[in-house]
Amino acid sequence: GSLSVGELADKLNKESSEIIKKLMNLGVMATINETLEAETIELIATDYGVAVEQEEVVDELDIDNYVEQDDPAKLQERPPVVTIMGHVDHGKTTLLDSIRHTKVTSGEAGGITQHIGAYQVEENNKLITFLDTPGHAAFTTMRARGAEVTDITILVVAADDGVMPQTREAINHAKAAEVPIIVAVNKMDKEGANPDRVMQELMEFQLVPESYGGDTIFVNLSAINGEGIDELLEMILLVAEVEDFKANPDKRARGSVVEAELDKGRGPVATLLVQNGTLHVGEPIVVGNAFGRIRAMVDDLGRQVKSAGPSKPVEIIGLNDVPQAGDPFVVFEEEKKARQIADARKSRAKDAERAQTSKINLDDLFSQIQENDMKEINVIVKADVQGSVEALRGSLEKIEVEGCKINIVHAGAGAIAESDVILASASNAIIIGFNVRPDVNAKRTADAENVDLRLHQVIYNAIEEIETAMKGMLDPVY
Ligand code: GDP
Repeated sequence: GSLSVGELADKLNKESSEIIKKLMNLGVMATINETLEAETIELIATDYGVAVEQEEVVDELDIDNYVEQDDPAKLQERPPVVTIMGHVDHGKTTLLDSIRHTKVTSGEAGGITQHIGAYQVEENNKLITFLDTPGHAAFTTMRARGAEVTDITILVVAADDGVMPQTREAINHAKAAEVPIIVAVNKMDKEGANPDRVMQELMEFQLVPESYGGDTIFVNLSAINGEGIDELLEMILLVAEVEDFKANPDKRARGSVVEAELDKGRGPVATLLVQNGTLHVGEPIVVGNAFGRIRAMVDDLGRQVKSAGPSKPVEIIGLNDVPQAGDPFVVFEEEKKARQIADARKSRAKDAERAQTSKINLDDLFSQIQENDMKEINVIVKADVQGSVEALRGSLEKIEVEGCKINIVHAGAGAIAESDVILASASNAIIIGFNVRPDVNAKRTADAENVDLRLHQVIYNAIEEIETAMKGMLDPVY
């Protein structure tokens, strides 16, 4: 059924402002009296751990925060997903190329290396997936979008250069993501190579090799001549074995976008990394805010494939739009459902964007009235005593400038609280305070949400300010 924000708050035993805040975080702008869609109610309820009948819908709509429950009996080992990070010029790209060229799955001829953003190699009959964009920028962009795809980080440090600024950054990023680090001491073929110095320097970052009593794996190698690469791959498999990466190949797939672009001939093209389940050609899919049916899949050797299991990267076509790196994807049973959910996500994203950009503000109120053909300005009134509240409300409600009026969303006595600011943000209102101030939380939220707070000690000034702003005659404040 449908509920208003206030009714939902009652049912959950929460303050309306808290619900409004949660909705805002989901990109839904709602006022207390607004009726919520069933899907939205479920999202909020699930957030509070309250079960709602049509649970499945929630899980699929809220694909960013979906937590999977797999039957342990169905879990199978999956290849580790590895990202290479390190300082510029320390050899990340060379290492990625060199691993690929020495290790491309032999025996399966016919393929031509394709750069799809990730590739797989085989070592001791086991697969390893490498993300092909070196550096922590890609890693962090994906993480910022909620994609936790990397299982193991290779930290490349040039033996002739040692720890540099981006080495430190890479360490911090890997640590923040709680991803195990293997150190690859590169350029061992060079004259000035000094792997001991690299070890010493890295100990400051708690990356301590076994020989010094720690548990970080160090591999000395040369990306140029290939020395040490086999050892590195073996070490990756060793870490993978310890970490015990698993997935359930026997279910509908989900995972993340590695990269995507608009191809002139083929339309939107996206490289997906399957993180759980198995992806099949022909399946309806939601990818970020895009959706479609997978028309074809190509692997990193340019071969057409019909399915892709856990940790396998594939390039797909068939989407209606270009998603972004780090976007989650989910496969659905029916295309109709996929379309619905993609549409819901898209409008949610749009609402969030609109809320971000177009907050009402006295400084350019006049142009906002003109541009949006506004007939009402939403205002929240707070004053020290009820008498002042009523006086302000009365005067404000009389204002009319060329057909545009003031609509009092909320009025009350007392300091400006965070809940007032949240309400203002959700209903795109200006807050007028008379002989009151915002408390610390209210001030912080107002700054974050771009809510215009106007404080006055004279009622007449409060009225005049808004009236002048509506006429476009307010002096700019510097
Ligand atoms: P990235 O910026 O970390 O991706 O570094 P690159 O892979 O582009 O390498 C930077 C430079 O170092 C290039 O000129 C490479 O040829 C060189 N280089 C990379 N690995 C090695 C190595 O193992 N030995 C030597 N001598 N040079 C290397």
